[in-house]
Amino acid sequence: MKYTIKQAYVISLFMLICVTTMCGCGQKKELSFETSYIIETDLDPEMRRMTYTETAEVINTGSDSTKTLYFHIYGNKFKGLRQVEDGDIAVLSVQDQNGNELQYQREQEGVLYCVELGQALEPRQSVELTFACEVLIPDLESMYGVSRDGDVQLPMFSLQLAMHDQNGWDIAPLPENGDGRYGAAADYDLTIRVPEAYLLACNGDELSRQTSDGITTYTYRAEKRRDIVVFACEDYALLERTVGSTAILGYFNETADGVTRQHMEYVMDCAAFALEYFNGLFGEYPYDTLVVTNSALGTNFSPNMEYSGLITILFGSQEFSMKQNTFHEVAHQWFYGLVGNDEIREPWLDEGFSDFATGLCLDADGKEDYPFWELKKISSNAAAGEKVNVPCDKASAYQQIVYDRGAVFLKTLMDAVGHEKFLSVLSDYCQKYWYGIATTEDFLEILQEGTDADISDIVAEFVE
Ligand SMILES: [Zn+2]
Repeated sequence: MKYTIKQAYVISLFMLICVTTMCGCGQKKELSFETSYIIETDLDPEMRRMTYTETAEVINTGSDSTKTLYFHIYGNKFKGLRQVEDGDIAVLSVQDQNGNELQYQREQEGVLYCVELGQALEPRQSVELTFACEVLIPDLESMYGVSRDGDVQLPMFSLQLAMHDQNGWDIAPLPENGDGRYGAAADYDLTIRVPEAYLLACNGDELSRQTSDGITTYTYRAEKRRDIVVFACEDYALLERTVGSTAILGYFNETADGVTRQHMEYVMDCAAFALEYFNGLFGEYPYDTLVVTNSALGTNFSPNMEYSGLITILFGSQEFSMKQNTFHEVAHQWFYGLVGNDEIREPWLDEGFSDFATGLCLDADGKEDYPFWELKKISSNAAAGEKVNVPCDKASAYQQIVYDRGAVFLKTLMDAVGHEKFLSVLSDYCQKYWYGIATTEDFLEILQEGTDADISDIVAEFVE
C-alpha cells in the first residue's frame, strides 16, 4: 500500500501524538494493566473468511494516566516469514463503551495497532474497547492460514494489549528471528460459529457446543492465558490421555501427509510423559486441558510450536525428533505460558529453559542412547564467548546461542550447584513468577538466594 504526501503527513502527525502522549515531560510513565477479552467469531473456512468482534476490558493498575493504548495482533506476523498483503487480520472499527468511534492507526503491517482514547484512562479506571475485525485467511505458509491438507490454523488472531514495562510500551518491530511475543496472562471468553462439518481445537476449555441450521456454535473460556488459538478441520481424529487433573486432547488431521495413527499415539504418550514429569519439577500445570495437534504443512515451513495450552508437532519426521519436539513444546507450557518473558529481549528465557527441560525429560525417559548434552555442548562451544541473554536480533547464531548455549548454561549451573538444589531453585522461580513475567535478573536473584556455591565465574561467562 502506498500513501500520498498528505496522507503520510497526517499519519506522521498522528504517530507523533501517540509518542508524545506516551512520554509526558520526557519521563517514562508508570503504566500497568489488567485485561480480559470477549470474542465473538464467525468462521467460514470455505470462503476463507472470518469476522469477529472483540471487546477488550482494560483496567489501568498503574499510577499514571494514558490516552493511548497499543495492541498486538501476532497472527499477522505468523502468516509467514515474508509479509503478505492479502490474508490480513484487519481492524475495521474501534468503539469505546459509550459507542464513540475511536481513532486508530495500523502499524507494522498489521502487527501493531495504536488506539487514541477519547479521554485519558486514569489510574484505577477501566475502559472497554470493541474492535470489529475481518480476517481473509491466506494459504498457510508457516503457522497461520489454510494448509494444503485442509487444516485451518488461526493462532493469536485477536488483539492483545501490548506490554508496558520499565522500557515503556513494547512497540518495537518484531524481528525475523524467534517468536517475538510478549504478553500478560489474561482471561478470554470465545464464542465461535463454524459450519458443522468442521471440528474445532482451541486452547480454552470448551463450555458448550450446539448445532442448528448447519452451524455449530462453540463457547470456550481460557483463563490466565498468554494467547487464544483456534484450529479447525473436517478430519480430526481425537485421542485422549489423562495426567492428574488434566485431559490431554489430541486433534490430528488424519488425512494430512505424514500423520499416521501410530505417530498420533506416540506423540500423545510423549506429551503425557512430559506433562507428568514437568508437573513434578516445575509445579502442576493448572489448566483442565492440554491440546496437541499436528503442525499443518505450510508452503514455507511448518514449525513445532507452543501456545498457552496448545502445542503443534510436526509429523513425518523420525520418531525420536517427534519425542524431542513434544518434550520441548510441553516444557514451553511453563517457560512461555506460565512464566512469561519478553521473547524479543530475552528469548533464551523460554527457548533455553525449554531445551534444558527437554534434556532433563530425555534423561528421565531414558529409552534412547542419545547424546543430548554432548551435542548441546558442541553447539554451545561453537558460540563460545557469546552471552545467552541477548535480544533476538542481536544473536549472531540464534539457535546456537539462545537454545543450545542457554541449555548448556543451565546444565553448567546445575552441575555446580547440585542437581536437587538447582531443581528446587527452578521450582521456586516458577512459583514466584507463575502467570507473571520474569527476566534474567529475576532468575539470577532466585538462584543466588538458593545456593551457597560460587557461581560468579559461570554467570560471567554466559550472561551479559
Ligand atoms: Zn521453543
